Amino acid sequence: MNDETIRRMQGECRWEGVELLDYKREGAAPFKDVTRQLLFRTGDLGCELRYFEVAAEGYSTLERHAHTHAVMILRGRGACLVGMTVRAVGPYDLVHIPPMTWHQFRAHGAEPLGFLCMVNVARDRPQLPDAAALAALRADPKVAAFIRV
Ligand code: MN
Repeated sequence: MNDETIRRMQGECRWEGVELLDYKREGAAPFKDVTRQLLFRTGDLGCELRYFEVAAEGYSTLERHAHTHAVMILRGRGACLVGMTVRAVGPYDLVHIPPMTWHQFRAHGAEPLGFLCMVNVARDRPQLPDAAALAALRADPKVAAFIRV
């Protein structure tokens, strides 16, 4: 049957008919060892559901934007910065990233950190921290030790 009602998982968090994409264009923003898969893009819901995977010791971009993220961790362990707080995360934890809140994910341990992330289809571009924003983040030693830029 040639429809997209059900696309099966093939291997570890890879799905039929879903292309493995770069997280971002290389050089567009700082990150390390992250892949992206677009699972759903439905205009009627106005949202996209993506699956990101951060390889061991990798990290997503430290950024903020007006749109929110609704995240569910699916595999691996790691930590995330949301605002000025760093928290450990693991499978099935839910992470809400409010508008204009600095955020970054890092994978810890041997297994990749994989997570679902829901966003609006129509959304603003991420902002990177300028020197003043970085200084404000680094004013907290825990945040300073965590962030990668
Ligand atoms: Mn983001």
